[in-house]
Amino acid sequence: MAKEFNKKFMHPTRRKLVDMVIHGAEYEKESFISFSGADKKKVKREVGDKWIDDNGRSYEQLEAGKIETSNLTDTMSEVRAYLDKLNTCKSDNCKTIKLERVDKKLISKTGYCLHCLTIKEAQIKVDGLWKEYEDYKIYSNMIAHGTDVIAQFQQAYRDAKQTYEVVQEDGKIETWSMERDVNELKAEIMTDIINFEKEIEEVTKLRNEAYDKLKDKNYDLVRPLKD
Ligand SMILES: [Zn+2]
Repeated sequence: MAKEFNKKFMHPTRRKLVDMVIHGAEYEKESFISFSGADKKKVKREVGDKWIDDNGRSYEQLEAGKIETSNLTDTMSEVRAYLDKLNTCKSDNCKTIKLERVDKKLISKTGYCLHCLTIKEAQIKVDGLWKEYEDYKIYSNMIAHGTDVIAQFQQAYRDAKQTYEVVQEDGKIETWSMERDVNELKAEIMTDIINFEKEIEEVTKLRNEAYDKLKDKNYDLVRPLKD
C-alpha cells in the first residue's frame, strides 16, 4: 500500500508546514518563509534573513554567508516531495499545462495525467495486448482488494470475544455478551479467510498469466510483480 498522507494524524508542527506549503503566499507576509521558486529572480539577502529554497531546505543569512539551518529541513522536503509527486505527471514530454481533478486522480493512481495515459494506453492497443492489459489491471485490483478484506477478517478473528465491556456515557461499564458461541464464530471466520486466500491464489495465477504476455514490452503502466 502507498503511504497515505493524512493531515489529521500529523504532528501540529508538521500540519502547519503543510498549510504553509499549500497556502504559501498567505503566510509570506507574516512569517519568514518565502517561496522564491515562484519567481526565479535573484534575491538579495540581508543578514538575519531566513528562507527555504525550492528543495525545501532552510537557510539563514549570516555575516559570513548563508548557512543551512534547522531540522525543519527534512520535514519540509518530505512535504514538498509528496505534494510534487501528487501534481506531477511522470511523462518526460508531458504537455499538460493545467492539471484538472481527473489528471491528479490519474497521476496518483498511474503516475500519468489523462493525456499522457491515453497515449501510453494507445500503444498497448496498437500492440494488440489490450485484453491482457485489462486483465492485468482487473486482477491486480482484485488482489489488492482481496488482501484488504483478508486483513479485516483477520482483525475480526483476533477481536472476537464472548463478552465485551462497554463504557457508558455515565462512565459505568456494561458487559455485553454475544449469543453465539465465540469459538463457533471464529471457526466460521477462519473458513472464510481460507476460502478468500484460495481465491486470491487463483486470481494471482491469472494475473501472472496476463503479466507474462505483457512483460517483454516493458510498459511502465505494467509494473513488475512484487510477490
Ligand atoms: Zn502528462
